[in-house]
Amino acid sequence: MSHPIYNYCAGPAVLPQEVMEQVRHSLKDFHNGLVITEISHRGAEFMQIVEESKADLADLLNIPAGYQILFFQGGATGQFAAIPMNLLGEARSADYVQTGVWSEKAVEEAQLFCDVNVVANTKANRYTSVPHQASWQLNKDAAYLHYTPNETIHGVEFTWVPKVEVPLVADMSSNILSQPINVSDYDLIYAGVQKNIGPAGMAVVIVKEDVIKPSRYPIPTIFNYRKMIAEDSCCNTPAVFSWYVSGLMFKWLKAQGGLTVMAEQNRLKADIVYAAIDASDFYHNPVETHSRSRMNIPFTLADPKLDSAFLQKAQEQGLFNLAGHRSIGGMRASLYNAMPVAGAQALVDFMRDFERHYG
Ligand SMILES: *Cc1c(COP(=O)(O)O)cnc(C)c1O
Repeated sequence: MSHPIYNYCAGPAVLPQEVMEQVRHSLKDFHNGLVITEISHRGAEFMQIVEESKADLADLLNIPAGYQILFFQGGATGQFAAIPMNLLGEARSADYVQTGVWSEKAVEEAQLFCDVNVVANTKANRYTSVPHQASWQLNKDAAYLHYTPNETIHGVEFTWVPKVEVPLVADMSSNILSQPINVSDYDLIYAGVQKNIGPAGMAVVIVKEDVIKPSRYPIPTIFNYRKMIAEDSCCNTPAVFSWYVSGLMFKWLKAQGGLTVMAEQNRLKADIVYAAIDASDFYHNPVETHSRSRMNIPFTLADPKLDSAFLQKAQEQGLFNLAGHRSIGGMRASLYNAMPVAGAQALVDFMRDFERHYG
């Protein structure tokens, strides 16, 4: 093998070598000989992690005043429930755009709490496009509109931000921090950290404080935005390790030059892989060209009987976790921030090689 191993896992995903080096050190000696997983979440060292992580994230995303940064356990799925609990207020319904399996799951969870109006649904075309906003059936009484800017399984990504009269909620689990965004376009942004930020165990929520509504129902403390704001996301023992590593990742991103640099790299990596797919009759990506994800690239081989050989040979070449999601099969390459351009190049070199032998 002429290159390091590359891990294209959709999540939990690869982290930068420099970050993992610091993590290894912190497991030997984080502070005064104590390791990171053994420090008190009420101590000064952890308080510093809390403050710096919030400041660095605010800096990276240029988060304006009026927004709160919160860290929850329960992943993005926990937020599927927390969002209606905290945002519904007296409203009885919410609008959802359904563009893939993740928004479908968000819809199902919200249905536990309210009437869900699915404003557009691309399931009939197997989730291969982003529906134009002109076609959406919006409800002006909705408490908020929820959408998924990047569908991790189907590889469908919005290139634009919906413009609606109600608060806008975005599940950015798989594309947060992949490019600069205008935070004030949104009222709530959330993300499970295990794709583009850190080890599994947390979700980040960036919420405009004035969209949080008194609830008709009691809200469990660990999902209660107001209580979490009051306690600096430490109503109970937080996911100390996940939080610590996420903080290191924020610093790494700043050191790379921030999100403008990441956006250029992410565009380049995706272009390399899509160009290889489109130049071949052997590989195929089903997503409408202008809705293609920069982060997650699903593709199929001309003959699905070759799938297992493809995965096997890839692994022998040090290219890991290229199998598509179990719900749709095929292949998928995830190219988050921590994936270097050389990783995209190594993948297409392997793909061309495989096609020459088996195509
Ligand atoms: C992975 C993912 C989720 C689920 O995240 P969990 O943290 O496992 O609950 C939700 N939405 C999107 C877009 C995802 O990629």
